[in-house]
Amino acid sequence: MDPQEDPIVIDDALWERLIELTGGEAALCYQCGVCTATCPWGLVKEETVSVREFIRRVQLGLETTAALWLCTTCAKCEAYCPRGVSIASIFQALRSIAWENRKTPEGLSSLLWSEFWNDNPWEQPPSQRAQWAKDLEVPHFDPEQHEILLYIGSTPAYDRRAQQVAKALVKALRASGVAFGILGEAEPESGSDVLDIGHRAYFEDIARASATTFREQGVAHLVTISPHDYDAFHNHYPVVSDAFHPQHYTQYLAALLDSGRLTLTHRVERTVTFHDPCYLARHNAETKAPRAVLDAIPGLTVVEMNDAGVDTLCCGGGGGRMWLETEAGERFSDLRVAEALETGSGLLATACPFCIACLEDSLKAQKITDLLVKDIAEIVALAL
Ligand code: SF4
Ligand code: SF4
Repeated sequence: MDPQEDPIVIDDALWERLIELTGGEAALCYQCGVCTATCPWGLVKEETVSVREFIRRVQLGLETTAALWLCTTCAKCEAYCPRGVSIASIFQALRSIAWENRKTPEGLSSLLWSEFWNDNPWEQPPSQRAQWAKDLEVPHFDPEQHEILLYIGSTPAYDRRAQQVAKALVKALRASGVAFGILGEAEPESGSDVLDIGHRAYFEDIARASATTFREQGVAHLVTISPHDYDAFHNHYPVVSDAFHPQHYTQYLAALLDSGRLTLTHRVERTVTFHDPCYLARHNAETKAPRAVLDAIPGLTVVEMNDAGVDTLCCGGGGGRMWLETEAGERFSDLRVAEALETGSGLLATACPFCIACLEDSLKAQKITDLLVKDIAEIVALAL
C-alpha cells in the first residue's frame, strides 16, 4: 500500500450495529447503481448523492457522509432496485446512529425538543391543537357514537394552510353522514416527523404512548389527513400495537363514494393533474384511491404528468427535509410544478400537507400565478 494513502478503517462494532438496525438489508445489494441513477437529487445537483456508495459503506462498516441528511426517503430508488433493498429504511437506520453519535444537522434537535415539550414539531402550545376547529363544533370522539376518529395530525392542526384541508374534510364527512369525532387537545402525536428524521428510539416511545391513548379512548378505526401519519400508523405501529385500523382519508372517501354514502353533485369544470405523495404511492402502494375520488367529481377532467403513480417525483418535503433548508435551484418541487404546467391543467391536486407546502413555496418563489395547488379534500368540498 502507498504509505501516502490513508488506510480505510473498518469499524466492526459499527458494522454489527448497521446490520442489526437494517436487518441485513444492505447485504442484498450487488452494487448495480440503479438507485443512484433514479434518485431525484440527480435532477437538481451536479454532484448527486451516490446512493450506491452509501450502501457499499454500510456493507463495509464505514462511516457515512453528510449527504445522509439529503435523502427525502421518497423510495424512488427502492421502486427500481432489482434486489428489492429497503434503501430508505437503511438511510433512516444510519440516521439513528448519527443521533446516537450527535452528528445531526442544526435545527433537527429543536424539532425533537418541541415534540418532547409540546407534543408537536411546530413549537406550538398543546392547548391550541384544536383551535382550527373552534367554530366547527366537531364532537370529541366517542366510541359508542362514532364510526371513525378523524386524526388531524400536527401540521393540519397548527399550520394555517393545512387547516383549510382539515376543514374541507370535515365538510365532506358531514355531507356523507358519517358519525365521527376528533380528540382535540388530547390528540397524541403519530411520531411520523421523528420517524422521518430517523430517531427510531424516540419514535417508538411516542408510538407506545399514543397507542395507549388510542386504546383508552376506544379508537378502532382512524382516518388521517397526512400520508406520513398514515404510514406511521399502518407500517410502524403494528410493532407496538395493532389495536386499530388506520386509513388515509382518500381511501376512506373512495369507499364512501363507492358505497353511495357520499355523492358529489356540484360540477367543478376544471382540468386537474395529480401529484402522488411518496408516502401514499410508493411507501403504501396507494395510487387508486386518490384518483377514484377525483374521477367521482362531476365536471373534473384528470390528466396525468409524466411521473405519475409509483413513478411520482418527490416534492422534497419528506425524510425531515421539511425542517431543513434546501437551496434555491435544488428543490424537487420546482421540477414538479414545471411538470404540472406542461399538462396545461392549471390545477395541481395532491393529498399531503407537506406536498402542499413545498409545491406552493415553488409557485411563490417562481411567481407562478397560472397554477393552483389544492388538496383533494378541498376539491371534494367544492363539489358538494
Ligand atoms: S439499486 Fe439496489 S442493488 Fe443496485 S446499487 Fe442500489 S441498492 Fe444496490
Ligand atoms: S429515498 Fe429518494 S431521496 Fe433517498 S436515496 Fe432513494 S431516491 Fe434518493
